[in-house]
Amino acid sequence: EHYIARIQATRHLNAFVHIYADEALQQAKALDEKRANGQAIGRLHGVVIGIKDVIAHKHHPLGAASNILKGFQSIYSATAVERLLAEDAIIIGSLNCDEFAMGSTNENSAYGKVLNAADETRVPGGSSGGSAVAVQAGLCMLSLGSDTGGSVRQPADFCGVIGFKPTYGRISRYGLIAYGSSFDQIGIFGTDVKDIALALEIMAGPDDYDSTASQQAPEDYTTTIPHKDSYRIAYFPEALDHPSLDPLISKAIYKQLEELKASGHEVKPVKFDLLDFIVPAYYILTTAEASSNLSRYDGVRYGHRTTQPVTDLVDFYKKNRTEGFGKEVKRRIMLGTFVLSAGYYDAYFTKAQKVRKILTNQIQLIFNEFDCIVLPTSPTTAFKAGEKTEDPIAMYIADIYTVMANLVGVPAISLPLFRHENGLPFGLQVMTNRFNELTLLRFSDELM
Ligand code: GLN
Repeated sequence: EHYIARIQATRHLNAFVHIYADEALQQAKALDEKRANGQAIGRLHGVVIGIKDVIAHKHHPLGAASNILKGFQSIYSATAVERLLAEDAIIIGSLNCDEFAMGSTNENSAYGKVLNAADETRVPGGSSGGSAVAVQAGLCMLSLGSDTGGSVRQPADFCGVIGFKPTYGRISRYGLIAYGSSFDQIGIFGTDVKDIALALEIMAGPDDYDSTASQQAPEDYTTTIPHKDSYRIAYFPEALDHPSLDPLISKAIYKQLEELKASGHEVKPVKFDLLDFIVPAYYILTTAEASSNLSRYDGVRYGHRTTQPVTDLVDFYKKNRTEGFGKEVKRRIMLGTFVLSAGYYDAYFTKAQKVRKILTNQIQLIFNEFDCIVLPTSPTTAFKAGEKTEDPIAMYIADIYTVMANLVGVPAISLPLFRHENGLPFGLQVMTNRFNELTLLRFSDELM
């Protein structure tokens, strides 16, 4: 009841797109009875969770914030959702986002933009803006988002909450609407590292429905987290001195590094000269994958269907897609089909794959010597609504610090440690090696 009342009182933030109030109350009642009857209760007994509108929940609407899926209901649940429900969590509703998770502001949504509760004239970040605001404004205890290039960490940074993206393959992608399949991961928003650890422990692990989900069993994160250790921490002066980075953010991170050193951690600069290549590589590879993934939305079996007269099948596809997709999604489909086209494949797609490989090798070498890499999450604090909508390149460049973890597949987290002079929160980003969520969560817990 508390969360439903909070959600109703903050409707103007536009964080939720569907609220399952009656169902949630019924479920809460059933959970109370279960406890009263002395039955075994789940590890998430009564934990109220919101999920991004790209994660399937059986017999509930699933729209990817797109008109092309308006009215669509999922016939199955994502593995992650099944596992939360099996532990007695309550899914209270679905959360607003950028269409098909493409964006950094939550302004590309068929449901309209989401407001940042810290300053309602500003964007919450994206694409999982609704998921970030839901936790920021206390509308649920935890929320799920998806992170292809920063869509969990960057909105967490803008909203002053924790945003965590696991290793690629740690959580099954079954039931997650695909954007860039070799990048996508379900991520978690929360206010306490231990809550995130528990949700991860429950959702992670092998899944017969996703061959890219790792066979490695998740570790027992929750009981082993409070842990003092001395870590070897790398930072990139090229990243902290980058001209696009707000000097106050840079200063705060340098200061944090000094404090870490003073408290006994080994903190060292590492030369990193690939920064300027990673955003272009990311946008070539993800638009290529997206153009292929989104070809399934043709209006034949499900989704938006035109009511205009059509001449033939191709015309039918064209009209369905023209009417159904928004501007940014169309831009990316065009970019993706271009970089995959016969004449440009080697110049763009193959080259970007090479950059990805070089980057992966370089990061691996760093993790041979260090436990963590520390970076900013975003070059600026939350921008004003509308500020970057006319300049997609400026918007893409702002992903400079987050896309690296997805190109390489490592886990990363944004921790809300700082407040800017302008009053807005911002975070510290930490990355560890593949499948080393334990170190990432332990170190984060120590910092929070
Ligand atoms: N801002 C990035 C993009 O638009 C990240 C999106 C995401 O992680 N889903 O692609």
